Amino acid sequence: MEIIQSIGASHGFGFGNVSIYTKEIDFSKTVINTFSTSQEKLVKEFESKSKLLKSEDRTIESEVLSLYIAFLTDSEINSKLDSSSTTQDVFRVFEENAKEMEMLDDEYFSQRAEDMRSLCKDVIIMMQGSTSSFKVNKGTILVAEDLTPTDTSNMDLRNIEGLIIKHGGPTSHAVIVAKNLGIPCVIGFSEDYGKLIDGQEVIVNGESGEVIISPSEEKITEIKNNIQKHKELVDTFTNEKFNNSDIDLRVNVGSHEEIQSFNSEVLDSVGLFRSEFIFLDSKEPPSLDEQIEVNNQLSKKFSGTVIYRLLDVGGDKQVEYLNMNKEENPFLGVRGIRLIDSNESVFRSQLESIFQSELYDKAKVMLPMVSAVEDLSLSRELIQSIAEKEGKEPLPMGIMIETPSAALIANKLAEKVDFFSIGTNDLIQYTLAADRGNVELRKYQDPLHPAVLKLIKDTISAGMEKKIEVSVCGEMASDTTSALVLYSLGLRVFSVSPSSAPLIFHTLVNSQFIKNKTPLNIEDFTTPEEVRQYVNDHN
Ligand code: PEP
Ligand code: MG
Repeated sequence: MEIIQSIGASHGFGFGNVSIYTKEIDFSKTVINTFSTSQEKLVKEFESKSKLLKSEDRTIESEVLSLYIAFLTDSEINSKLDSSSTTQDVFRVFEENAKEMEMLDDEYFSQRAEDMRSLCKDVIIMMQGSTSSFKVNKGTILVAEDLTPTDTSNMDLRNIEGLIIKHGGPTSHAVIVAKNLGIPCVIGFSEDYGKLIDGQEVIVNGESGEVIISPSEEKITEIKNNIQKHKELVDTFTNEKFNNSDIDLRVNVGSHEEIQSFNSEVLDSVGLFRSEFIFLDSKEPPSLDEQIEVNNQLSKKFSGTVIYRLLDVGGDKQVEYLNMNKEENPFLGVRGIRLIDSNESVFRSQLESIFQSELYDKAKVMLPMVSAVEDLSLSRELIQSIAEKEGKEPLPMGIMIETPSAALIANKLAEKVDFFSIGTNDLIQYTLAADRGNVELRKYQDPLHPAVLKLIKDTISAGMEKKIEVSVCGEMASDTTSALVLYSLGLRVFSVSPSSAPLIFHTLVNSQFIKNKTPLNIEDFTTPEEVRQYVNDHN
């Protein structure tokens, strides 16, 4: 048994046998079709597949195929290739284009460079008259360098129990498909790629990113039980149970893919809409219409409340076209709502897009990175002035509690806003002075640290006293022991990833710790471990 750490990209456990998908180019094969014929055939094939995917509501996959068509019919490529081109010529031209995209040193374009390379393989395979179809047996853990829409449309995805991807990024086609279909997936599996052999048994943990090669019998039984339990949890997570509980579960949404792939009969509200992806995915400021379009898509998927968080960039998220200075300490810099002074028009456009979209009736606005009462004024004024201009009621306005100062003055802030949502990811890093992205600091990133719990408890109490809603939207809400602690501190609104919802709900409604109303006094604990032990002992 060997455990390899990669990056979790689509939640869930998968167990099965490795099947390696390769699409190596073999230049020695005879060419049957010219470049022009292959190009024509592929465009037709992509057009019909794109239509089919769209009719199945798989819009993003269909959009990727449209991008492939755009690449194939691109005038620059066509000025360099024609019916007399060899497979080497095709490879060279596509590779040159891919390299140019990579030089832009931007995540979006490096992803598109990968698309360009995958498409090149499709063209060469078509020129050689081969087919890309690939047989997937039941119980397969598919291993691939990357997967293109052509690849996935040529295989039976229902037989795939897990995906291990070498190159794909979090928004690559393979990950989108995995999320859409609920297939556990890990990415960034490059160094150990050669260790995987066809037929070998493996376990994929799409959450932690762990891949276990040749697992022990004991591990297999444990994972099979987990898979079974998860299936049962999903089956028992029904509307009836949810509506009869005192728990309000909402989901976090932070990408186009997550909007598209969301599919639940029980959950209908968004507890955290990370609007910055609309800006990060784009080379220039998104237009008002583009933003309205995203809001309308969101509104179609969610009938309940949508908490729209205003742009939260700075820190580890930089946007070139915004007024942002280079900083020594970006996490302690001009981040989140602090950017509103220098980028007022951007925040204004976000608010206008809500007022002018179908989201208006269900939206609440949330400000990120608030650390002082002064941080509220400009947003409040903007909401007011846009409401007057649009002839509509102002939108409710709440804040993230994710800085220690905000938690410490929560009683004052509660008088000025309509709701709180506790961002534990940042609250933990700022309280414990431990960079959230630094794995070496794991031991300082424990949500059950009594210092963090004290701030959370005070925030919940301040919200209750002033009768405003308090939720938690950080990852802590998706951790079972932490969820019990949060409930015990009075929290009832949890915002989690859609795939964690059934487990968190099950944990909360079946826990002895909660049923017995076990007292929890934060002052009694010195370390996170003591808190964990106490909860487990009483559960
Ligand atoms: C948080 O800080 O807990 C949070 C939910 O916001 P983000 O992870 O987007 O910073
Ligand atoms: Mg945050």
